[in-house]
Amino acid sequence: MNLIEKALEYIFVPSCGVCGKIGEGYLCKNCGKVLERYVECDDNFANLREDIEKKKLHIFQYKEIVRKLIIQYKFNNKSYLYKTFCEFIVKNKKAFDFIKSYDIIIPVPMHNKKRALRGYNQSELIAKELAKKMKIKIFTDVLIKTKNNKVQSSLNKEDRKNNVKDVYKLVNKEKIYNKKVLIFDDIYTTGATIEACKREILKADVKQLGILTLAKD
Ligand SMILES: [Zn+2]
Repeated sequence: MNLIEKALEYIFVPSCGVCGKIGEGYLCKNCGKVLERYVECDDNFANLREDIEKKKLHIFQYKEIVRKLIIQYKFNNKSYLYKTFCEFIVKNKKAFDFIKSYDIIIPVPMHNKKRALRGYNQSELIAKELAKKMKIKIFTDVLIKTKNNKVQSSLNKEDRKNNVKDVYKLVNKEKIYNKKVLIFDDIYTTGATIEACKREILKADVKQLGILTLAKD
């Protein structure tokens, strides 16, 4: 932490990202309990290749307050909510153990133009904080987005598949050689984005590949 960051921590007392309460970190006890009701932590084990175990975990169901918070986080400029989500995730034992079993976390990239427009990549912010808290690595220069495609949520299932075709690209693949790699995205809907990213990551000889999403629609 540099001096400015330290000063900011001192000036801004953390408050609950959901209700604004001060003194209980970025997520107060009450709101933590409310979010708990939406936890699914459903993992699905399926063999992708004989030598690589594919594991998938999503934290929440994408509905009601969780849906509202994620929408605010992505579209209403409430970027600070990444701290609230991360505080919740690291306290959840299943999620913690799952993430901790990987070496590297790779957030689904956002095209530069879109990132400039929003000011942040919501998946990257969460992945960065998780990496910091769990002491694993984060790489944002391994999977890149080469096309500024349409927003997935505006399309149907078939179009979503085509929309992400040849959009992601693996670079610097030696960085993940023989590593346990976890791909992170905010919402899992049809899985088209994740599948496209996974295909690229698997072009590197990774030891293990996992998927983590904040919520499943
Ligand atoms: Zn609260």
